[in-house]
Amino acid sequence: MPQQPSLIQLIRRGVRKRCPRCGQGRLFRGWYTLSERCSSCDLEFEPLEGNSWWFMYYTTAFFTGLIIIGMLLTTPDNQWIGRGLILVAWMGCIVATMPYRKGVAIALDYFTEHRTSQPPPRSED
Ligand SMILES: [Zn+2]
Repeated sequence: MPQQPSLIQLIRRGVRKRCPRCGQGRLFRGWYTLSERCSSCDLEFEPLEGNSWWFMYYTTAFFTGLIIIGMLLTTPDNQWIGRGLILVAWMGCIVATMPYRKGVAIALDYFTEHRTSQPPPRSED
């Protein structure tokens, strides 16, 4: 039986947007369209829809906390332009990191919920 990947390997696979179990199949068909199953090992990526929302929620809250700290620490000459730039940077962080955060969320979901319930594919030898 092949060895299960470690938590660090799972997170790396999530950041690379690859299947948490085999590390080969792509998680997304497009930029943010999640594939239903792995093209390599047939793992269902999100068997319980919503299992990854908590990670997306907390990471969004983290970026929001950073933006609030940024607003408190900066004193631009023009408040509206400064805050507008910070708001655009915040939205950019949220949107640009979405597929990577979702990949990590699916990897963590696999680690906690499905690691033992769905055994890796058997090798032919
Ligand atoms: Zn796979």
